[in-house]
Amino acid sequence: MNDQITPQPGILEIALYEGGKAQVAGVANVVKLSSNENPFGPSDKAKEAFSRSVHALHRYPVTDHADLRRAIAEVHGLDARRIICGVGSDEIITFLCQAYAGPRDEVVFTEHGFLMYRISSLAVGATPVEVAERERTTDVDAILAACNRRTKLVFIANPNNPTGTMISAAEIARLAENLPPQALLVLDGAYAEYVEGYDGGAALVDARDNVVMTRTFSKIYGLGGLRIGWGYGPKHVIDVLNRVRGPFNLSTTQLDTAEAAVRDQDYVAKCRAENTRMRSWLANALAEIGVPSDTSMANFILARFHSQEEAEACDAFLQKQGLIVRRVAGYKLPHCLRITIGDEASCRQVAHAVAQFKGVK
Ligand SMILES: *Cc1c(COP(=O)(O)O)cnc(C)c1O
Repeated sequence: MNDQITPQPGILEIALYEGGKAQVAGVANVVKLSSNENPFGPSDKAKEAFSRSVHALHRYPVTDHADLRRAIAEVHGLDARRIICGVGSDEIITFLCQAYAGPRDEVVFTEHGFLMYRISSLAVGATPVEVAERERTTDVDAILAACNRRTKLVFIANPNNPTGTMISAAEIARLAENLPPQALLVLDGAYAEYVEGYDGGAALVDARDNVVMTRTFSKIYGLGGLRIGWGYGPKHVIDVLNRVRGPFNLSTTQLDTAEAAVRDQDYVAKCRAENTRMRSWLANALAEIGVPSDTSMANFILARFHSQEEAEACDAFLQKQGLIVRRVAGYKLPHCLRITIGDEASCRQVAHAVAQFKGVK
């Protein structure tokens, strides 16, 4: 024990993040539906770029990420100068907290919001402020009521994880419009690609100077293992974030693979269509056996059970068959299980197993 060497205030309040389970003792072939991964993996073009990058491993990567930023900008119709790339969108969230929040500042997010918002706020000594949701949906009025002179950042995932619900562009705009002047709104668009025609909030970023959007290659792009994300914001914010970003935060492999991935929008469209199809199939199949869920706009559904006991018993039952889903008690949803939309076979397997558990079949 050494009580002289102590971490900064807040650090010891951080509960360690637990990723989705990947194994079950005694079961060889598991179906992992616990981390919202794309069951089809990345596009072939991304895999080819990954392989080619082996020839450049002795070289330092570029520091300005110009090619990847240009590709993202072209595909999404954005200003490349206002894009920043990071080690997953987690790193963009970290940069935002480092740059804009500190001791005595408050960081606002919703009751069932992504755990990284709390972790990154505590890591910089800021005070996390959790706002109630309305029926597992972001409540703009409640967020505005929670803001004050100390509010520096407001994080909203839209669609949200683990609820899968989404609020309208008009509601998001109303939130941005009415925030206190020193507060920055962060729209986490990790699941934006799953919503046909949705820009993740890019137009609002362009229209205002207090909104930032974060995006990731971990979900629909199927590159969670490689760790690449990006942010889009006003020039004044991106300039600040680039000061805290390490010059070599992304490797050549990450940059080249992400560039090939973002240019392959046919693959993204295919994955989106298949996700939409299987998501409604699974939601209906579960609803028919008495397991409801809110309309999900993402690549998972939040299945609701009668009680925590029932949710845990169902999880244990599924695990025995090698089906791994996510318990979300840590997100204040102890009576729910989050189930990632897998391929058709996995969806059928999980629906069948839940039906068995419920004694329906
Ligand atoms: C998965 C997820 C992310 C992505 O994190 P990465 O660091 O990019 O892998 C961000 N926000 C939310 C809400 C998520 O669910």
